[in-house]
Amino acid sequence: MGATDLAEGTLLDRLDRYGISRRRFLTYCSGLAATLALPPRYAKVIAQALETQQKPALIWLEFQDCAGNTESFLRARNPAVADIVLDLVSVDYHETIMAAAGHQAEASKEATIAAGGHLVVVEGSIPTKDGGVYCTIAGKTARQHLEEAAEGAAAVIAVGSCSSYGGIPAASPNPTGARSAESLVSGVPVINLPGCPANADNITATLAHFLTFGALPATDGEGRPLFAYGKRIHDNCERRAHFDAGQFVEEWGDDAHRKGWCLYRMGCKGPSTFHNCGSQRWNEGTNWPIGIGHGCVGCSEPGFWDTMTPFYDRLPRAAGFGVQTTADRIGVGVAVGTAALFGAHGVGKYVQRRRAAAGEAKATVAAAEADAGQELDSELEEN
Ligand code: SF4
Ligand code: SF4
Repeated sequence: MGATDLAEGTLLDRLDRYGISRRRFLTYCSGLAATLALPPRYAKVIAQALETQQKPALIWLEFQDCAGNTESFLRARNPAVADIVLDLVSVDYHETIMAAAGHQAEASKEATIAAGGHLVVVEGSIPTKDGGVYCTIAGKTARQHLEEAAEGAAAVIAVGSCSSYGGIPAASPNPTGARSAESLVSGVPVINLPGCPANADNITATLAHFLTFGALPATDGEGRPLFAYGKRIHDNCERRAHFDAGQFVEEWGDDAHRKGWCLYRMGCKGPSTFHNCGSQRWNEGTNWPIGIGHGCVGCSEPGFWDTMTPFYDRLPRAAGFGVQTTADRIGVGVAVGTAALFGAHGVGKYVQRRRAAAGEAKATVAAAEADAGQELDSELEEN
């Protein structure tokens, strides 16, 4: 059976041809609902939406990047099922994986833009200094490509820290004038999925949310979806009990390191970083940086290369954070409510500000999700 045959028919037909049972597909949808922090009953809602929705076109642009997000995305969990779901979007342009090249590729992109209603994924930052000459493709600057692709798009999804916030190219002194996608696009909803790289599960879940509800998920004050960036690394960390107990690694390879104690004194930025790495993990959910004994470097925070470095020192200039002395003091082993400590040192305000912005966005999208959920629930009951 050829690739074309495998791609034809409804989603259920294609699942069948790939030997994927409906049960396995529903299990995958349950995982998507869990990733999106939706109640379990939404698995059926997502499944039904994915089975019936129209196939939107997607343009994936790569600018000042390392292709790390593409690599991450191509290694999505449950690849066989994810392939089918991702097949629900028509990836009309992606420099790394498309077969077309040169004028043929540009023509395909232009046709998609002309039709409108497409999704634009942006990977890498956009240079703006010296007329944007530091990244040109097919005779146009990255900025021109982004502005053209965003025209008439349904949404722009910035994947990775470079397209979300400028990333490493924008680190001081930012020689190319690198900027985020959001700062250069107007009139189109933009969502940021920062990380170095972005987690493939979060990219897939964002697409699934858009396909299910016809809108991007609710975001926090930094434009990140709450389902993935609503909590700090520190809130879901398996080493948290050791932080609270004042049990810290003091040197790489010491007894505390071997026992899996807290990495705060080795420079872990988990207390000021918002991301769901601890629950989603990486490499098919096998593990994550802190799980293997390396502190979080705060890669999903704006300007992390400037504000979170040096990576192996304790929170040197992290915005709104100053628990260094606090963590030192609780090193004597007294279990103390860290929320209260953070509040005393300014972190409370930092977290509260984010939560306030998040709360407003959450209320708006929760209403949309509830409407869509009720509608589909009724349909499910009727069937
Ligand atoms: S400081 Fe880092 S290692 Fe320690 S509990 Fe917080 S996130 Fe985990
Ligand atoms: S643990 Fe921290 S540095 Fe590692 S991927 Fe997650 S947010 Fe980035």
